[in-house]
Amino acid sequence: MLVVAEKEIGGLMTPEAAYDAIEAVFASMASDQAYNFPVVREAIGHEEALYGFKGGFDGSALTLGLKAGGYWPQNQKHGLINHQSTVFLFDADTGRVEAAVGGNLLTALRTAAASAVSIRHLAPKGAKVLGMIGAGHQSAFQMRAAVRAHPFEKVIGWNPHPEMLTRLADTAADLGLPFEAVDLPQLGAEADVIISITSAFSPLLLDEHVKGPTHIAAMGTDTKGKQELDPALVARARLFTDEIAQSISIGEFQHAIAAGLIEPSSITQLGAVINGSHQGRGEAELTIFDGTGVGLQDLAVARAVVTLAQEKGLAQKVEI
Ligand code: NAD
Repeated sequence: MLVVAEKEIGGLMTPEAAYDAIEAVFASMASDQAYNFPVVREAIGHEEALYGFKGGFDGSALTLGLKAGGYWPQNQKHGLINHQSTVFLFDADTGRVEAAVGGNLLTALRTAAASAVSIRHLAPKGAKVLGMIGAGHQSAFQMRAAVRAHPFEKVIGWNPHPEMLTRLADTAADLGLPFEAVDLPQLGAEADVIISITSAFSPLLLDEHVKGPTHIAAMGTDTKGKQELDPALVARARLFTDEIAQSISIGEFQHAIAAGLIEPSSITQLGAVINGSHQGRGEAELTIFDGTGVGLQDLAVARAVVTLAQEKGLAQKVEI
């Protein structure tokens, strides 16, 4: 099998390759050529760790496998980041293990690529201002991918912990864009596209904050109980997601569903817009993409990075 080490991923994987891989796999999901397996997530009762598997099969690319890993909150004492994951790919014809790929950086890149795909397909015409809610590890990846997907002219941002806003300011400066820290009413009124990427457990962005044609990529909610958006805001939007079953159970849309404000039938897979079988934004004033993060995204970027590693001679061959 081939091994692509975590330390090689940064030099191999480009945001463009991540974008293409995610757009293609979303399209395969919407045309029923690819599906995700049920997610396993366990509190293992050791080191307060949450460990699990996200897997799937893409029949169009013949990509089969899983991402194994999770969250170890005490990892600082080992000099490691708290999120740890590895992607394993298997030969779809034989079941033989094909590759093991470091999954930490890939997770950030595939998550940022998902919101970027939504922005390219759903942003209101002439969108100029990107609003960022959240300033943690993922936020810089999100901003970089969004700015590659669409020609924004300005970034505005808000974070529940204002001392973290320097990450947004520095990233915008690096991208050559002006940055302004604002409050949420200003962010909702001025941003044409909003990315929310926090670990919030109650709504941050309220219905009355958001004015005018807007696209929101809601990326932070990936667990039961997490929440970034007011359900009333969700209820008045045209709704898109990576996978409907996941969005209504662990994604942002779980709350509007639980409140009886929306039905699963009013949610569209983003892949249907990519495939051209759904018109996308159309005449809608507000669109929301609920990016919950599916295993097929991890497999798609891992597949892309294995190809790049083979081309550059950076995939180590190991007999097992
Ligand atoms: P991080 O720990 O680096 O940053 C956390 C962010 O959330 C910061 O902006 C912080 O100010 C804010 N925050 C922390 N506690 C909060 C609270 N109680 N209420 C409101 N905000 C709070 O995390 P990160 O790696 O940037 O990840 C951010 C979120 O994105 C997490 O919820 C993570 O699980 C999620 N995530 C989603 C996907 C996906 O595919 N959808 C992928 C990776 C991460």
